[in-house]
Amino acid sequence: MANQEILISGAGIAGPALAYWLRRAGFAVTVVERAPQPRPGGQTVDLRGAGRTVIERMDLMGRARELSVDQRGLALVDSSGRTTARVPADAFGGEGIVSEIEILRGDLARLLYEATLPDTEYLFDDTVTGIAQAAGGDGVTVTFEKAAPRRFALVVGADGPHSAVRALAFGPEHDLVRPLGLYTAWFTAVDHGLDLDGWYLMHNAPGGLVASARPGRLPGEIKAGFSFRSPPLAYDRRDPDAGRELVARRFAGVGWEAPRLLRAMRTAPDFFLDSMGQVRLDGWTRGRVALLGDAGYCATPLTGLGTSLALVGAYVLAGELAAAGGDHTVAFPRYDEVMRPYVTRAQELPPGGAAGYAPSGRLGIRLRDLSMRSMTRWPMRPLLAAQFAKAGDIELADYGLTATGRGRARP
Ligand SMILES: Cc1cc2nc3c(=O)[nH]c(=O)nc-3n(C[C@H](O)[C@H](O)[C@H](O)COP(=O)(O)OP(=O)(O)OC[C@H]3O[C@@H](n4cnc5c(N)ncnc54)[C@H](O)[C@@H]3O)c2cc1C
Repeated sequence: MANQEILISGAGIAGPALAYWLRRAGFAVTVVERAPQPRPGGQTVDLRGAGRTVIERMDLMGRARELSVDQRGLALVDSSGRTTARVPADAFGGEGIVSEIEILRGDLARLLYEATLPDTEYLFDDTVTGIAQAAGGDGVTVTFEKAAPRRFALVVGADGPHSAVRALAFGPEHDLVRPLGLYTAWFTAVDHGLDLDGWYLMHNAPGGLVASARPGRLPGEIKAGFSFRSPPLAYDRRDPDAGRELVARRFAGVGWEAPRLLRAMRTAPDFFLDSMGQVRLDGWTRGRVALLGDAGYCATPLTGLGTSLALVGAYVLAGELAAAGGDHTVAFPRYDEVMRPYVTRAQELPPGGAAGYAPSGRLGIRLRDLSMRSMTRWPMRPLLAAQFAKAGDIELADYGLTATGRGRARP
C-alpha cells in the first residue's frame, strides 16, 4: 500500500469516520484537533439515507440507537406558547424534519472517536499552521502550533466550515464560502423549568429571529438554539462571551420562553455561535491534500444533510484510497467523481432557504406556519419528501473494508 501515513485535521464527525475506515484499510492515521478533547455540543443530527448505511457498515447502529433522542416531532409556537403548526416525527416514514434516528452531535462525535481507538494517534489542543508539498514530491511537510513538524504522505482537512487546511492549501475563506446571512447559536440548558413534552419547539419572531428548544438525551436537559438573520458580523468566533452578548442583544424583548433560555445561555459551557455558509469548491483535492465534510462541502444545517455528507464522504475517500492501493492520483479524482452529484444535490436549499426558515415580517411568519401545517399534504409533501430523500441519493460501493479489514478493488 502506497502513502501509508495520513494526517487528518479535525476530530468532529468526518475526521474520526475517515480514520476508522483508513485504519480498516491498513493506513497509519494521525488526527489533530484544536479542542482539548472531542468537542461536545450541538443539537441532534439526523442519521438518514446513505449516512445511516455507513454507520451500519461500521457496526455502530446498535449503539447509535441506544444514544438516540426520543422526540415526538416539530411544533411551531407563537409568543404566548400556543402551537400554530405541528409535524410529527413519524410523518415522511420517519425520515422527515425530525427523523426516526436523531442523535446528539456530541454523542455521535464521541461514538466515532471511540470506534477509532486505540489504533489512531490523536494530537488534541493543536492545529496545523503550515503545509508544504513540492510538485511530484513524495509527501507533505506539516508544521503545527505545538507539536514538532512532521512529514505525512497525505493530509485531509476535516476541520469544519472554517477549515485551517483549506485556508492553507486552497485559499481564503471569503473566496470559497457563500454566507447565507444567518447565524445560529446552540447550547445545552439544564433545570430551566420548561416542559417540552417530547416536542422540538420553535418560535419565529419578527426581524428574522428563531428561538428553539428540543429534548436532550438526559432527563431535564434541553438543547436550545437561537438563530438570526444578519449580514457578516465582525466578532471573535472563539470568544463565547462575545457570542452570548450578540445573541442576548438580538433576542431582547422576544416572547415565548426566550427570556428563560437567554438566562440559561449565560452559563451554558457548550455555547457555540457560528455563521451559516455553504462551501463551494470546483475540486476537493490539491496535490496530496484533500478536503472532507464541512471543510470541503458544507451544506449548512438548513439542509439537514451535513452529517450524511461527512459520513459518506469519509467512507468513499477511504474506500477509493484502499481500492487504488493508496495511490492518491487515482483515488482523489474518483472521490470527486463519486461524491460530486451527491454533494451538488444536497447543497440545494429546501424551499425558501434562510428567509423561509427565519422570515423577517409577521406575514412571512404566518405563511411559514401555513406551509408547516400543510407539510404532510399535497403539494408540500412531495417537495419535502424529495428534500429528505436526497440523503439516500448515492450508490455506496462495497470496498471490502467491513469484514476483512483489507481493501479490495471496486466492483
Ligand atoms: C460544536 C458544534 C456543534 C454543532 N451543532 C450542530 C447542530 O446542532 N446541528 C447540525 O446540523 N450541525 C451541527 N454542527 C455541524 C455538524 O457537526 C457538521 O455539519 C457535520 O456533522 C459535518 O461534520 P464535520 O466533521 O465535517 O465538521 P464538524 O463537526 O464541524 O467538525 C470539525 C472539527 O474540526 C475541529 N477544528 C476546527 N478547526 C480546527 C483546526 N484549525 N485544527 C484542528 N481541528 C479543528 C473542530 O473543533 C471540530 O471538532 C455542529 C458543529 C460543531 C463543531
